[in-house]
Amino acid sequence: MDNNVSYQDEKIKFEDIIEKNVDLSKYTSMGTGGKAQYLTTPGRFEELITALKFAKENNLKITIIGAGSNILVSDKGIEGLIIRTHHLSRFSTKGNMFCCRAGMSIEKAINITLDDSMFGLEGLSGIPGSIGGAIIGNSGANGHLISDHLLYVDYITFDGKTHRMGTQVINFGYRYSSFLDIKDCIIFEAGFGLSNSTDSFKKSREEQSTIKKDRKEKGLFDYSSAGSIFKNPEGKYTAGELIDSCKLKSKKIGGAMVSPKHANLIVNYKNASSTDIYKLAELCRATVEKKTRIKLEYEIKLLGDFT
Ligand SMILES: Cc1cc2nc3c(=O)[nH]c(=O)nc-3n(C[C@H](O)[C@H](O)[C@H](O)COP(=O)(O)OP(=O)(O)OC[C@H]3O[C@@H](n4cnc5c(N)ncnc54)[C@H](O)[C@@H]3O)c2cc1C
Repeated sequence: MDNNVSYQDEKIKFEDIIEKNVDLSKYTSMGTGGKAQYLTTPGRFEELITALKFAKENNLKITIIGAGSNILVSDKGIEGLIIRTHHLSRFSTKGNMFCCRAGMSIEKAINITLDDSMFGLEGLSGIPGSIGGAIIGNSGANGHLISDHLLYVDYITFDGKTHRMGTQVINFGYRYSSFLDIKDCIIFEAGFGLSNSTDSFKKSREEQSTIKKDRKEKGLFDYSSAGSIFKNPEGKYTAGELIDSCKLKSKKIGGAMVSPKHANLIVNYKNASSTDIYKLAELCRATVEKKTRIKLEYEIKLLGDFT
């Protein structure tokens, strides 16, 4: 008898899907950060619900991470339960509709939809995040936003209840979505309405590879980073231009460096700690504020204690 059979209705024991004291640096694009007290990477709805229940019963704080490409995790680690969405990656396609779970990478979603002659997501090429991480912060590039073709989002509140929100009631803004206000929730699934226009395939594949090549040439992937550290403030200048005007390109603290190519990128150029990166980011903020009176706001999410 095959002993690899898994029954959908068998009871999931939390001990079987949990890891303790997990080094989080391997799950962040920065490659830094301390340990998670508990970490789980559910692949199924039932596993996710079991994890939420365990956290509730044990009064554990819950933190969600997707692809870890927009976070800085404290070197002191994170107390409570980390839910990593990486294995929530099922999908389905029908007509011009593409539905996927939140842990699917943006790049994979683009490849699946293009292969199925569905167009619209390819403008997001080269963003190294998950669908859920992109939705919560309304990620975008080159004039395209994840919210552009979104139809609905299914999310689960930490009390285990599932909800569906159509895009007509979700507020999206610059690196903002309503889910940031709901806070105690995990984005579980999203549905996109894409174009089926037959002449788009070649154009879309070309767009995908041009954007990726362009981003590579601009040095975005030369070192580990978390993308733009700060949001662009309102007004004439971008965060990068303000930091550059303070002559901070190539500035280093420990193993962290302001990218010589993009002033709004702090890179892990040599075994940096999260503390190095945070101190350098704070130095950039303080210098820009002193010179211009503009207080830069973090785009990346700081997880854990940085005091
Ligand atoms: C080289 C590089 C280039 C980048 N370029 C861009 C760019 O052009 N445009 C852009 O917008 N971003 C860019 N980014 C930033 C990043 O890739 C995006 O913000 C991405 O969408 C974040 O997704 P993630 O899965 O990595 O989220 P994470 O970093 O894992 O998490 C980010 C936040 O979202 C929350 N979160 C993640 N998944 C869920 C979920 N399922 N439910 C609830 N909360 C969740 C986390 O708790 C955290 O607060 C870049 C990053 C890098 C490293």
